[in-house]
Amino acid sequence: MAALIRCSQCQLPYPKDQTPHRCSCGGLFGYAELPHYQASMVNHRLHGMWKYAAMLGLEEDSPVVTLGEGDTPLLKSTLNGREIYFKMESQNPTGSFKDRGTAVLLSFLLSRGIREAVEDSSGNAGASFAAYAAKTGLLGTIYAPESTSGPKQRQIEMYGANLVRVPGPRSEAARAVLTAVGEGRVYASHAYMPFGLAGYATIAYELVDSLQGAPGVVIAPVGHGGLFLGVMMGFESLLRAGEIDRMPYFVGVQAENCSPIVSAFHNGDRECHETHVSKTLAEGASVANPVHAKAILDRMYSGMGIVTSASENEIIHAYQILAHLGIYCEPTSSLSITPLLNDKISAIGTVVSIITGSGYKTNTIL
Ligand SMILES: [Zn+2]
Repeated sequence: MAALIRCSQCQLPYPKDQTPHRCSCGGLFGYAELPHYQASMVNHRLHGMWKYAAMLGLEEDSPVVTLGEGDTPLLKSTLNGREIYFKMESQNPTGSFKDRGTAVLLSFLLSRGIREAVEDSSGNAGASFAAYAAKTGLLGTIYAPESTSGPKQRQIEMYGANLVRVPGPRSEAARAVLTAVGEGRVYASHAYMPFGLAGYATIAYELVDSLQGAPGVVIAPVGHGGLFLGVMMGFESLLRAGEIDRMPYFVGVQAENCSPIVSAFHNGDRECHETHVSKTLAEGASVANPVHAKAILDRMYSGMGIVTSASENEIIHAYQILAHLGIYCEPTSSLSITPLLNDKISAIGTVVSIITGSGYKTNTIL
């Protein structure tokens, strides 16, 4: 695994015996490309995303921490007279796509002998981390914004993790966790550490398996961008392996109230600059400084797709439309259909919208 992960600035390989969340030079550790997809290595006797264990980047003798993530339904539906598929990531064990990433991250941490760690989250990643920590007996502390929805806070605490409620915006929780890290705690960051990307890539593998080929368009919400990037990298792996003969068109969606990557894209920038952000119903995508902005923008400029945004009214409208299709998701997930409702894209071929989290996690009445 370490050989595949390098610092994006100084190219230092990920260390073989520690668990840093960033390189000592300040750079971000990342995959230049994911572990190669090999059809012959897919183990159909294993459950869920662990069919793709050989592509998750874990050492062969790594412990496996699982709660049954992956193999989520691909639901065929109709939206505005057009056929659409919903990838129901809300049906993962803790109710969000984060479980795919957390399963890989926790398996990695366990393989390095880590028994205690801290994490920060707007809610879903924290709940996911707390559940997998409970499964392994790892002692977890989650720093979350005070404004995190009640059900998510309750979920984190029920799993037995310590929950530290941080007043102020999401960035304050990130600041608070860094203080703990400065005191020597292991930072199991779902955002900075690259391990989860290999987990999110399994969504691409499952889609191609279900559809017997690449979809035309894949739409997903973008916060830090781990899901969007991981899925794109999964399709890149499939293309390199010859499993698909073309890439889908990717559409990443942010809330207008917090859309740093969209702003950078419109300005032609390769990185995000400080942008004004305000509260949004799409709390899961409310990230002012997205970790994966550069990797996503590079791909958008290379023609792989676009990033776009939705207003709060569009989010509410999409949320209600999904519910009327029988899909109860959190408002963040409804970003996955807003570009289809406001004609920001003219979709070609099969459209897949990723439903990232369950509606049971929200306490907002819309
Ligand atoms: Zn470095």
